[in-house]
Amino acid sequence: MADDVVTAAQIASHLECPRKYEFEHERPVSPPKESLDRRDEHRRVLLRGSIIAGLRLDDASPDERTAAACDRFEELRRSSPSSYLVDEQARYDGEVVAAAIAAYFDADGHEHGERLVAADETVGYERGGVRYETTIDAVVERDGGYLALDYRPNLHGVLNVGWYDDNVRRFEEGEGFYPRQIGSLVRAAIVIRGLMNEHGLGPNYDFAYVSLLEDSRPAYDAPGEIYVDVEQRHFGGAYDEERADVNALVADRAAALLSGETDPREWQFDEIIDSSCSYCAYQNACPDYLESELSFTDRHRAADESPGRPQSPEFSSEESR
Ligand code: SF4
Repeated sequence: MADDVVTAAQIASHLECPRKYEFEHERPVSPPKESLDRRDEHRRVLLRGSIIAGLRLDDASPDERTAAACDRFEELRRSSPSSYLVDEQARYDGEVVAAAIAAYFDADGHEHGERLVAADETVGYERGGVRYETTIDAVVERDGGYLALDYRPNLHGVLNVGWYDDNVRRFEEGEGFYPRQIGSLVRAAIVIRGLMNEHGLGPNYDFAYVSLLEDSRPAYDAPGEIYVDVEQRHFGGAYDEERADVNALVADRAAALLSGETDPREWQFDEIIDSSCSYCAYQNACPDYLESELSFTDRHRAADESPGRPQSPEFSSEESR
């Protein structure tokens, strides 16, 4: 039995910024309710709960699965704080979600329900005295293996697996800074290895992010109806391509976070400041961010006060007036 447990979410947040990992997992600080991350997460929770309700029905038609999922969405929405400014916005949002749920069950969702093995399940495996694990929304059986599914409103921050097949190497060597996307690949790796551990080796294991609201708008050719684009992004191939690199990255980051490495200056600090901080919910509570803002101000002040240079009126003292 492993002494330490490391989750995919912990590694993903450590990749974005080790301090963010600390705020989220070591000494939890609640981000402001209005933060974008928190709103996205809330929407994800409503959608996954609704789809799972539809998947879990036995001997049901696609329409029955859709109805169960839509009912569940309304229940969940009524029991959570409203984020809508006006009733009209809530009504339209409900229609968009219902259209997305119906589109999913009309396409692959019904078959996923018929082949459902587990829903809302934690999978994991042990390596080097550490247990790695993550929760997945659904597992469905397929020929020679299993497919795990993660439901979300959109694919923001999910690696576009068609771009490169050396994403991890490029990230680690500083050729690009895209920690959220690498985090999505890390999650896929932990899911696939967890499935193999719990269901035995097979040739056909896969993991897909299912985006339910990737694109939605009123249907121009059918007044009163809504067009939605439900998209699936599969990671089995990407994991096969980058297996060695991503497994090594998972082990490295697990060791770092277990040994308490939470100072962002020891990682790609400039990139973190330029990128991760811009959408981080902890900005107002973060000493590293506040300090970086201050040093930026000080750089200007030092330049303005350099010998032979006129002082900026913004920083001129009372005596100089
Ligand atoms: S504000 Fe920036 S430095 Fe601070 S936790 Fe967030 S990402 Fe990290």
